[in-house]
Amino acid sequence: AKADGRNTLRFFDPKMQELALARSVLEADLRHALKRGELDLHFQPQCDRQGQVHGAEALLRWQHAQRGAVPPAEFIPVAEQTGLIIPIGYWVLRQACLQLNRWAADPATASLTLAVNVSARQFHRSDFTDQVQAIIEETRVDPRRLKLELTESALVEEIDDAIAKMERLRRLGVAFSLDDFGTGYSSLAYLHRLPIYQLKIDRSFVAQVPEDANGAAIVHTIIALGRALGLAVIAEGVESPRQLAFLGNAGCDSYQGYLFGRPMAAAAFNARCGSAADA
Ligand code: C2E
Ligand code: CA
Ligand code: CA
Ligand code: CA
Repeated sequence: AKADGRNTLRFFDPKMQELALARSVLEADLRHALKRGELDLHFQPQCDRQGQVHGAEALLRWQHAQRGAVPPAEFIPVAEQTGLIIPIGYWVLRQACLQLNRWAADPATASLTLAVNVSARQFHRSDFTDQVQAIIEETRVDPRRLKLELTESALVEEIDDAIAKMERLRRLGVAFSLDDFGTGYSSLAYLHRLPIYQLKIDRSFVAQVPEDANGAAIVHTIIALGRALGLAVIAEGVESPRQLAFLGNAGCDSYQGYLFGRPMAAAAFNARCGSAADA
């Protein structure tokens, strides 16, 4: 142990020290993950009530050379804190556009949309719209197939700037979905001003229906709110036929969750859509 009494962390909180160390190792590895080709996108189906796939959400996967799969819940926060989420976020967006182009070449997948998660930190950069536009132009993707998922927390600060950015991308054809809806703060005050097309009901609420009366009330309220504002509503984390029945009766239009399919590699996703393409 260190002799310096000021370096108290090591003496008094070895757990914290360990955590900080694990984090900095993860950070160092994440810096290399991109160029080592350890990052990959998986695709989770977004379906109608009958299970017909109309789109997907792109979900980032990290296959670490030594540790194996590192869950996004572990490395996304590290990426956010270090700013690595910015290059990684543009890499994800570019890969998503390339995937949309591959889908466009096959009738079985040509009409699919692809939703990409955008971190608040990336969205708030002043060059965000320029960067997105550059990727759209460079890949020549059809922007009408591209959806961006933002969380409420990305929109609470600098709301006018956020709306201006969303308007600009919307003019290109890109649509916005409000992710994890209901878990953020004070969204009602500005919700009607946001140029979004969809609310995404958070999995924590979906998990409570139909049994829990409060959860059911929240889901009904979100769907009614979406209706009143002319927005589409998708539910995430749908795992059971009972949840699906409840959501369907409540007026939800789209569904995503293990009931319809886990996030999967492109080849498996294509097979699910009846495409013979192997990626
Ligand atoms: P999210 O955007 O809310 O994504 C949905 C998460 O729920 C995914 O976890 C997905 O695998 C999981 N999920 C989907 N259906 C079910 C279900 O029926 N049951 C359960 N228990 N889980 C379900 P995942 O892939 O681990 O991602 C976690 C979070 O990491 C995402 O939450 C998102 O916030 C973040 N993330 C993932 N990929 C990206 C990315 O490319 N960029 C950014 N900025 N964030 C990402
Ligand atoms: Ca999402
Ligand atoms: Ca979500
Ligand atoms: Ca969620």
